[in-house]
Amino acid sequence: MARVYNFSAGPSALPESVLAKAASEMLDYEGSGQSVMEMSHRSKVYQSIIDGAEALLREVMQIPDNYKVLFLQGGASSQFAMVPMNLMTGSGKADYVITGQWAKKAYKEAARYGQANVVASSEDKTFSYIPKLDPATFTPDADYFHICMNNTIYGTVYNELPETGDVPLVADISSCVLSKPIDVSKFGVLYAGAQKNMAPAGVTVVIIREDLIGKAMDITPTMFNYQTHADNGSMFNTPPCYTIYMMKLVLEWLRDEIGGLQNMQAINEKKAALLYDYLDNSKLFRGTVVPEDRSLMNIPFVTGNDELDAKFVKEAAAAGFVNLKGHRSVGGMRASIYNAMPLEGVEALVAFMKQFEQENA
Ligand SMILES: *Cc1c(COP(=O)(O)O)cnc(C)c1O
Repeated sequence: MARVYNFSAGPSALPESVLAKAASEMLDYEGSGQSVMEMSHRSKVYQSIIDGAEALLREVMQIPDNYKVLFLQGGASSQFAMVPMNLMTGSGKADYVITGQWAKKAYKEAARYGQANVVASSEDKTFSYIPKLDPATFTPDADYFHICMNNTIYGTVYNELPETGDVPLVADISSCVLSKPIDVSKFGVLYAGAQKNMAPAGVTVVIIREDLIGKAMDITPTMFNYQTHADNGSMFNTPPCYTIYMMKLVLEWLRDEIGGLQNMQAINEKKAALLYDYLDNSKLFRGTVVPEDRSLMNIPFVTGNDELDAKFVKEAAAAGFVNLKGHRSVGGMRASIYNAMPLEGVEALVAFMKQFEQENA
């Protein structure tokens, strides 16, 4: 068996020990005689899996007691509608910062349900930076303020949160969740699709302050109302059972093998520094993001020559470094180095890039 180094932006690599554990439990989960895929979600044994996943997430992320954790479906993209339908019911206004395609999609969806304001955008420079925010331009009576924390396609991240005062901060953390500690109490709502850093695709995690639940618009479909899922322990209908089980295994790996989010951050910083240092010193490759807003998770880079970029992607894939092609909207390359990418994977990639640079200088 030969496994590649997978730099996919999502779905992305999972820790090998997690995959091995899942394989070992595939036919018989803890003496139940069934696969987790096959069991009733109403069974005692499955209840212990979903409860365990929530408890682990609360422990690892240190989620305060006044927040609900919901396991939903529909991806982060469904949250683009769920957030306004549930929260845009006071003044009917919300502020959005446009830092990439996901942020823009979230804004466009919100504009269908209320007055969505763009307070800043970095589209003028292909989203290669996080705009400086001036609280004087924020809507004082907004129902919430939305950001996309880590911009998966462009490789930018907020290192400082907007000062929104009493206006709840809502953040899409799909591509940075679990990459380092985050102070949940600074947010009204956090949401993330699983397939970047938590599990296979299929579950969307929503972490929501309790007082923000129960204010949905009348038109909100039952399945889109946070209250529905909060009242039913994410079991109003069949949850994405197997994916939640996989998330539990990933969280066990994160806590027991990595040693928690502080350690994860140190490892992620080391990995990212290795690649950024090389890019900053290379005569062939360069990063596309301003240094102060660089993501730990998604690192786009280019040679400046489309043909050479294509050659690099092709030769890298042949050498076992797959999914390095940049997003179709920006071109070039992108190395997504989520939690499950080991340090050796980044070391090997940098060594390969150095060799390519020598051969193509
Ligand atoms: C991948 C991604 C999404 C889309 O997630 P889906 O689960 O496919 O809907 C949204 N936001 C960010 C930041 C992402 O990285």
